[in-house]
Amino acid sequence: MEKILVTQPFLPPLEEVEPYLKQIWENKWLTNNGPFHKELEQKLADYMGVKHVALFSNGTLALLLALKALDIKGEVITTPYTFVATAHALLWNNLTPVFADVDPVYGNLDPVAVERAITDRTEAILPVHVYGNPCDVSGLQKLADKHNLKIIYDAAHAFGVKVNEKSIMQYGDLSVMSFHATKLFNTFEGGAIACHTDEMKNKIDHLKNFGFDGETTIIGTGINAKMNEFSAVMGLLQLNHFDDILCKRQTVAERYRKNLEGINGLRFMHEMSGVGHNNAYFPVFVGNNYPLDRDTLYQTLKDQNIYGRRYFYPLISWLDSYRDLPSSNASNLPVAEKMAKQVICFPIYPDLNLDIVDLICDILNESNK
Ligand SMILES: *Cc1c(COP(=O)(O)O)cnc(C)c1O
Repeated sequence: MEKILVTQPFLPPLEEVEPYLKQIWENKWLTNNGPFHKELEQKLADYMGVKHVALFSNGTLALLLALKALDIKGEVITTPYTFVATAHALLWNNLTPVFADVDPVYGNLDPVAVERAITDRTEAILPVHVYGNPCDVSGLQKLADKHNLKIIYDAAHAFGVKVNEKSIMQYGDLSVMSFHATKLFNTFEGGAIACHTDEMKNKIDHLKNFGFDGETTIIGTGINAKMNEFSAVMGLLQLNHFDDILCKRQTVAERYRKNLEGINGLRFMHEMSGVGHNNAYFPVFVGNNYPLDRDTLYQTLKDQNIYGRRYFYPLISWLDSYRDLPSSNASNLPVAEKMAKQVICFPIYPDLNLDIVDLICDILNESNK
């Protein structure tokens, strides 16, 4: 059997790309706020119902600059149960990460744990909508209001997600997206920040272009984090197909849920009420009452050419750059520690054949005997 990887990028039909390439070749405008860049920013802002979207060359630089744009200093409360870029963005800004534990069902930052972690040096919360499942946005906003903190959502997994009919990007001070090849909406490499005022958009635009304000004026210490025209084209084409992408992912997720219902010892995530999901990932947690441990199951699947991924393992608080932080102590993070040891994300992408989903579930059933 062919290798089945955890994800496969959606690519628009090549014949849809060609006319755009012709235009780029005619324009000879490859980057620096070109026409396709402008068009994608507008279309994404409309799609999300936010005032502005600023495009980036990748999600990590967008995170770095989101923290800079809000001028955050001191301590930032975040989750250890995420991709490394979330915490790295804090260290690159000379900020102190303070890890708080997550909720045991969806693995998102637990507002109760966040409140316990607040000190007089805390300036912001950096929560992650893990697997695209929304954080407790109202609980976190209440904390932020009470303690005068900013919220920057790492929404790298959450493109297309809605809470109470509103795009999830409308919450918090800033939301940061990734359009990396492995994400459900991709521009090869890319990222974005959703923001809510003209002033903030302006500041972010300066930061991502060296600080240039006109030909000879440079304000602040900006960097180069701009999206190029080809990536913007990929975004525009992808957006046309996005409803279909969501629909196909939903079908795959439903098939997994139906098949897994009867298997003891494997926990999966149910849909949340009032949420429009994107099914960006399909995480499964291997419990003690399943005959195989997580790593053995991971290997069993791999032996049959099914390549799951252990997102998120290892926990960030276990890594050399973070383990000496007081908040990295395992006793502070019992839920995250447990999830990291149990999780496997199964393959999910629009063109994943449902027969493969059935085959994966047969292997799980077979291993459960
Ligand atoms: C992918 C990802 C990022 C980084 O995005 P890039 O575009 O790869 O730089 C940041 N945070 C999370 C949670 C991610 O999954």
